[in-house]
Amino acid sequence: NAPLSEVDPEIAQVLERELDRQRGFLEMIASENFVPVSVLQSQGSVLTNKYAEGYPGRRYYGGCEEVDVAESLAIERAKALFGAEFANVQPHSGATANAAVLHAIARPGDTLLGLSLDQGGHLTHGMKINFSGRLYDIVAYGVDPETSVIDMDEVRRLAVEHKPKVIIAGWSAYPRQLDFAAFRAIADEVGAFLWVDMAHFAGLVAAGVHPSPIPHAHVVSTTVHKTIGGPRSGLILTNDADIAKKINTAVFPGQQGGPLMHVIAAKATAFKLAMTPEFKERQERTLRGAAILADRLTQDDVKNAGIAVRSGGTDVHLVLVDLREAEIDGKQAEDLLHDIHITVNRNAVPNDPRPPMVTSGLRIGTPALATRGFGDAEFTEVADIIALALIPGADVEALRARVATLTEAFPLYPDLQQ
Ligand code: PLP
Repeated sequence: NAPLSEVDPEIAQVLERELDRQRGFLEMIASENFVPVSVLQSQGSVLTNKYAEGYPGRRYYGGCEEVDVAESLAIERAKALFGAEFANVQPHSGATANAAVLHAIARPGDTLLGLSLDQGGHLTHGMKINFSGRLYDIVAYGVDPETSVIDMDEVRRLAVEHKPKVIIAGWSAYPRQLDFAAFRAIADEVGAFLWVDMAHFAGLVAAGVHPSPIPHAHVVSTTVHKTIGGPRSGLILTNDADIAKKINTAVFPGQQGGPLMHVIAAKATAFKLAMTPEFKERQERTLRGAAILADRLTQDDVKNAGIAVRSGGTDVHLVLVDLREAEIDGKQAEDLLHDIHITVNRNAVPNDPRPPMVTSGLRIGTPALATRGFGDAEFTEVADIIALALIPGADVEALRARVATLTEAFPLYPDLQQ
């Protein structure tokens, strides 16, 4: 039981260097966040040793008394947080949660209608070589090429034409709120299930700063590690008792074996924290930060460089930058921002003329910086740094120094040692 630094110095160094990287860079990947130390503690705990196939009170292994308490707490807190009657907290990730949802409400060969990957959807919503695209018959809707907003008339037209078994509402790269009631009306009209994947905006929903899909959807899935800022994992919610039973069977034994009890305990803690006023305030700062960024990136100096913001702004935690008319492409922009110590990801824009490894877009999110403590003043500074970086002729050294001032003023995990 020697410490990691002795047993495996190479991995110990990876942990140390990664902590340094997280401290020294501004993290703006829209799907990332920083978990609190309390969550790190559960995840690095002895709960990782425990097998607990089954559900609380109905396990296939002995010795589950304590993990039952953890899972029951996670379930009850998830239900309370989102106002849902049922929660399954076992999915290892967002993708396995989504696989379980489809396992529960569809059969291979059924038709699914979801947002296409290249217009902002997720792999699990029907991408060709993902399990979803291989097992199901996929019809995809996109965004309006002019407004970059989902056209609900088009969703309805496709639904009426193809009669899908499931309509999927949810996204990985989309800057606007979805009209859940309109999606449900279409689902009801064609006899489909409405599945909302709120992986990205679940934290906003939990804080009440974004409409909730729970009253509208037959089933809702999410990750726990994006805006919520909990452990890397998934969650499924529903108010439908019949679907709830099918979800439990689909997750275990349908989809997974032993649940990750250390992660489930960490989820319980994350849900507890998500019920606090501090969490709501953080989500508000997250939204304001994204709005500040969108505002700066639509100013004339940026526009004149051929750079646009998709949909003209944002009402969530991210901004999608459109570089189709700019000198710089998505890969160059990602590398340039990395050079000044800001981490973002390049992202295809609808009808992107460049290949997927290059792209003509950037997805920039504010959740991790809000968790780090950034408020309006800091987001204004970050937005200006990004704007100046993207305009040709950036002074990389000077911008990197401005980033360093911010990272030093907001130390990350100040007492943590890896
Ligand atoms: N659903 C959506 C909408 C996502 O954006 C993501 C992750 O990017 C997932 C599901 C999958 O989550 P995970 O990476 O945990 O499998």
